[in-house]
Amino acid sequence: MLYDIIILGGGPAGCAAAVYAARKQLKTLLITESFGGQSIVSADIQNWIGEKSVSGFDLAKKFEEHARAFPDMVDIRMPERVSAVRKISAEDNTRDHDFEVATDTGATYRGKTLILAIGARRRKLNIPGEEQFNGKGVAYCSTCDAPLFGGKRVAVVGGGNAGLEAVTDLIPYADKIYLLEYGATLKGDPVTQDRIRQSPKVEIILNAQTQSITGNTFVTNLNYLDRATNETKTLDVEGVFVEIGSVPNSEIVKDLVALDKYGQVMIDSKHASTSLPGIFAAGDITDDPYKQNNISAGDAVKAALAAYAYLQNSEKKPPAEA
Ligand SMILES: Cc1cc2nc3c(=O)[nH]c(=O)nc-3n(C[C@H](O)[C@H](O)[C@H](O)COP(=O)(O)OP(=O)(O)OC[C@H]3O[C@@H](n4cnc5c(N)ncnc54)[C@H](O)[C@@H]3O)c2cc1C
Repeated sequence: MLYDIIILGGGPAGCAAAVYAARKQLKTLLITESFGGQSIVSADIQNWIGEKSVSGFDLAKKFEEHARAFPDMVDIRMPERVSAVRKISAEDNTRDHDFEVATDTGATYRGKTLILAIGARRRKLNIPGEEQFNGKGVAYCSTCDAPLFGGKRVAVVGGGNAGLEAVTDLIPYADKIYLLEYGATLKGDPVTQDRIRQSPKVEIILNAQTQSITGNTFVTNLNYLDRATNETKTLDVEGVFVEIGSVPNSEIVKDLVALDKYGQVMIDSKHASTSLPGIFAAGDITDDPYKQNNISAGDAVKAALAAYAYLQNSEKKPPAEA
């Protein structure tokens, strides 16, 4: 079977792309390890348009139901992990513009176009307690989760722009915010530094190497090494925001499409197209600066419609001479 579109990923971007591909009656395959995407761990999502409050788990179920609502048009392979993607050259196929996607089951699939929607993963601290308390005090998205820490004591790890912005997000809610930076100075924008320094709630701790997160059911402490004095210190906190960046899941396409210096797939924001015609991308895998569910879904709509236009144009062209 040669699919019109193969969508990689079942987060908000992948599911939105599937819905729009189905509405354009494109024969579509969606391959994903799981449905829902990164915010599935969020207890309370308050900014998905049309829902004042929804858990990440319930939103994931809605995404999956919607993607599965077109069984005649959209085939789904889940759980399946894409392990390789390649462009089929003219030598193996009379069409010279198709793609082949291989998964960890050993299966391969062919498509005329691809939509890359396999998102990103948060850069982790990789310290004891981080996984255990993920979603139980350990958080990776301040825009999303700051309101859950009303009246609480929290630590933000990372003194770059993401860390400073997390502090800004937390100031209206938390009682006390420790900002921990590994180096001797903060790295984020001076204007934001000035803003957070004006808040009596914020305490900046430099030369801090985070070592472990401890607690019972929820986080109670963050332990760090003061690199200036070599002393181990403990903070009493109910939340730890890890803001040390994210890593796009772009390894499998790094030889196929242009990536920026952060490994993000570079897209033309008008058409969600990548550097290789026929491959489109949306959501957190891309260099779109705002990483949010609504934006991922919106970009994916653009990708699906642009793939549809691309298919219409490419079908009009006369076949290549043998
Ligand atoms: C903890 C947390 C809470 C958040 N809360 C909010 C919030 O409240 N509101 C908001 O707007 N945004 C929130 N965000 C941001 C939001 O989750 C992301 O912007 C959004 O999920 C990106 O969507 P995506 O579809 O591009 O990618 P992802 O959500 O990363 O989804 C990628 C999908 O691809 C699959 N996948 C990955 N690799 C492969 C592979 N090799 N093969 C097959 N499948 C693969 C994954 O299983 C996943 O289903 C939060 C992020 C985090 C980390």
